[in-house]
Amino acid sequence: MNPLPPLAPWQQRTFDQACSALDAGQFGHATLIVGPPRIGKRLLAETLARRVLCAAPEADGAACGRCKSCQLFASRAQMETLEIRPDGSPSHPWGHSAHPDLYFLGYEIHPRTGKPRTEIVIDQVRALSDALTLTAQLGGAQVAILDPASAVNWSAWNAVLKTLEEPQPGRFLWLLADNPARLPATIRSRCQRLELRLPPHDEALDWLCQCGHPADAAADALDATRGHPGLADAWLRDGGMALRREVLADARALEQARAEPDAVAQRWLAEGRAEERLWHLAELARSHAADLTGSPADRTLMGRFDAANRARDLLRTQVRAELAIHEALLAWRATTVKR
Ligand SMILES: [Zn+2]
Repeated sequence: MNPLPPLAPWQQRTFDQACSALDAGQFGHATLIVGPPRIGKRLLAETLARRVLCAAPEADGAACGRCKSCQLFASRAQMETLEIRPDGSPSHPWGHSAHPDLYFLGYEIHPRTGKPRTEIVIDQVRALSDALTLTAQLGGAQVAILDPASAVNWSAWNAVLKTLEEPQPGRFLWLLADNPARLPATIRSRCQRLELRLPPHDEALDWLCQCGHPADAAADALDATRGHPGLADAWLRDGGMALRREVLADARALEQARAEPDAVAQRWLAEGRAEERLWHLAELARSHAADLTGSPADRTLMGRFDAANRARDLLRTQVRAELAIHEALLAWRATTVKR
């Protein structure tokens, strides 16, 4: 049996492309799997890993589901594939894979603090490199999935580079990235690229309906996410659409001086999901700015956009969250946009 959710059509296209390359012997040692957060990079990587590790893949490229490798894959304790945070990172650190030739590199638990690390460190990469020098336990391929690649710290990149410079047949290293431009150029130049793109509107809408969402709600969410079905699905499931409506209402109240920035900041903190709220705020500024490109109001809106994003960054630092949020809301109120 396949323990993974089925691929969406746009994921299937990229998967087929990878399978053709595999069959033609043109699938490289190192691959960047890129695309916006929640578009399905992780699911694609795991589905591809199942296929690469399978001892007897079907003619259509799918894993057989019966061999020892497929059985081990199915026995993996918990599939975390869809548990991805809005910033694209897994919602909890990866443990060991039940499959001996499949490795995950992500935010591991710090041995001393017991909390997830905030980056991927050199010791993790070295341990992986050591593991990849051993013979595959099932005698087939070995696959390592590094997710998210943006979490690899500077010294760990040098260790990654070393493994990229010593490719071995049957060893695959896949780096998952929302924004590959931020990865070191020396890494990018050594990787092939598999890209997941936003699908056409009708395909996205069909998929959302197949996921069980009512058509009108699905269309609204697709609109709000500017055509991103994975994000729309997440927002419909986790209250993100309702959160967005709240943020729109708060932003309007600030503009019309019906609300005070500090009161709104306190409420956002008390009610939670502050980072997501700031993201919605930034998106709101961006979508308004897109309507007004080149006009004087454009600069004001970009100022709001920057302020909201700066506050999101500050939430990850030692700065008090309330101050960070307050600053973004103040920027929203301080300027009036003539439309
Ligand atoms: Zn199999």
